[in-house]
Amino acid sequence: MLDYHLHLWPHDERATPLNLDQLKAYCEKAQAAGVQELAVTEHLFRFRQAEALLGGFWSDDRVPAALAASMADYWDFHATADLDAYVRCAQEAKDAGLPVVIGLEVDFYRGRMDEVAGLLAGYPFDVLLGSVHWLDAWRFDDIDVPLQMDEWSARKVDDCWNQYTVALEELAASGACDVLAHPDLIKVAGYVPDAPDEWWDRMAEAAASSGMAAELSSAGWRKPVGEQYPALPLLERFAARGVPFTTASDAHRYEQVADRAADLRSLLDAVGVGELQGYEGRVPHRVAVGSPPPPSEEG
Ligand SMILES: [Zn+2]
Ligand SMILES: [Zn+2]
Repeated sequence: MLDYHLHLWPHDERATPLNLDQLKAYCEKAQAAGVQELAVTEHLFRFRQAEALLGGFWSDDRVPAALAASMADYWDFHATADLDAYVRCAQEAKDAGLPVVIGLEVDFYRGRMDEVAGLLAGYPFDVLLGSVHWLDAWRFDDIDVPLQMDEWSARKVDDCWNQYTVALEELAASGACDVLAHPDLIKVAGYVPDAPDEWWDRMAEAAASSGMAAELSSAGWRKPVGEQYPALPLLERFAARGVPFTTASDAHRYEQVADRAADLRSLLDAVGVGELQGYEGRVPHRVAVGSPPPPSEEG
């Protein structure tokens, strides 16, 4: 098993200096859960280098002023860390023999993924996750912010799923990233169309035609939707198309590392997937799902 989606800082905390001890603790917790390899994947928007390139992307006449102002505040709060220091710390962990690879969770920026790829090409990343968290300036997954959640009542659910899928398709086609993170994140707040099949088909096609892997993530169990990403019918579509998988917790703190790895293992089993995909220098390789850890002595 892998835990290929890990954050260092919770969203409500400012970035703090990185240290190897945090990564060591993550590795110990993951290994106890039968997870062999971890990817450190902080959000691109936590870094000043992202702000310099992309800051203000939300300024558009068509974007409601309140959403634009909220996004500006969000970036002010989040984009404070140094990407070079982050990569150096992950490299040190790797050099020290910890089972980690150097990653990043990259947001989708419509029409700008070439610029994003240009920024990231200068770093020794092993794996890049591609994520759609926002539709223009709307943070549809920011479930603790009423301004963002009110938008769900102002929009049609089908339209939101369609806009999300179009973004995912462009992200996949850009070739900027390796893994589709939480592929059906648009369901996060619990708004799901009566018949999502068309969008599931398109999400599976986006992954299959781009060669990207899909992430099987336990994070959805901690959200209002209350199920893993992707939903079982989408997981089955990925498996049927031969899309490779990573597994992930999307932990934002120590307690969530390797969260529900055993449940993810059961899902892989249910769809007949016995191998995962790992990455080194953005080159994929196969990784055995492996056996579950022995029961702990405390029982
Ligand atoms: Zn994410
Ligand atoms: Zn994440």
